[in-house]
Amino acid sequence: MMPRKRLAPSEIISPAGVGRRVLLAAPRGYCAGVDRAVIAVEKALDHYGAPVYVRKQIVHNLHVVETLAERGAIFVDETDQVPEGARVVFSAHGVSPAVHQVAAERNLQTIDATCPLVTKVHKEAVRFAREDYDILLVGHEGHEEVEGTAGEAPDHIQLVQSPDDVEGVTVRDPEKIVWLSQTTLSVDETMETVRRLREKFPKLQDPPSDDICYATQNRQVAVKKIAPEAELVIVVGSSNSSNSVRLVEVALEHGAKAAYRVDYAREIDETWFHGVATVGVTSGASVPENLVRQVLELLAEYGFGEVEEIVTAEEDLMFSLPRELRKDLKAAGEETSNKRRS
Ligand code: SF4
Repeated sequence: MMPRKRLAPSEIISPAGVGRRVLLAAPRGYCAGVDRAVIAVEKALDHYGAPVYVRKQIVHNLHVVETLAERGAIFVDETDQVPEGARVVFSAHGVSPAVHQVAAERNLQTIDATCPLVTKVHKEAVRFAREDYDILLVGHEGHEEVEGTAGEAPDHIQLVQSPDDVEGVTVRDPEKIVWLSQTTLSVDETMETVRRLREKFPKLQDPPSDDICYATQNRQVAVKKIAPEAELVIVVGSSNSSNSVRLVEVALEHGAKAAYRVDYAREIDETWFHGVATVGVTSGASVPENLVRQVLELLAEYGFGEVEEIVTAEEDLMFSLPRELRKDLKAAGEETSNKRRS
């Protein structure tokens, strides 16, 4: 973690005659899939009581995971670490059929909080594999979502991580290939990878609809809007959050002179403010708004008290809670809607 260095306000040099301000990107923060997954664990803890096991981080955010752990969630890496017969929640990033199989063998009671937009990609993979396509999955090796999607059709899917990977891609039949992608990639880099794939394989088919989800796209559009005016962009998000890491890259590619990702306001190094008049702020799709507020409060302490929200899209998508949980809540006469406890 970068040490926090406090400067006296007089040491923070802003360009002469220019006031300090914050451009706050919107949309930012929680997407519908993350909101649903976090509420699913909260409601499971309320309804069944602790402990509730969760396979992997429910969403890629340190603060969310720590907060749920304090309430009694136990996070495990693999399904075989869950005691026989216990209840386990699968994370928003999705799981492969093999994970469901292990859960069934261990008589686990599962709550599947896979984001419906990840499930959509799984279904595309199953369908194209059934039709015997070669599937080129654009995504990052080792990411849980990619492991889950690839696990749906391991014999048909090969991973393409970047435009530079394209040279090494070989397929059985260049007339019968389709590309799919991880939901949280950089739109621009993915399009470049696809452009190069199509140069090599002109008959490459597109996915039936965008795999990079609405939330990822909206947050990238918003940061592109603020980056050209910001000498510094701060992205709130965890290091394993793909969409947060992409926001830093997108900000730098679109004009920000510097961009950093932080989990918490306390990680901000005040030397970043040297020569800065405008700070852009955004957050990844797994970040609760209170962490952004803490960043804004710290910025205000250093003279960046004027905050202008730049809105590039409105979002109102909500997903209903996982089916298994809704059924149990309904049977107990409890609230089944996607709402937090007050
Ligand atoms: S980032 Fe997109 S795919 Fe991932 S949980 Fe959110 S809405 Fe779903």
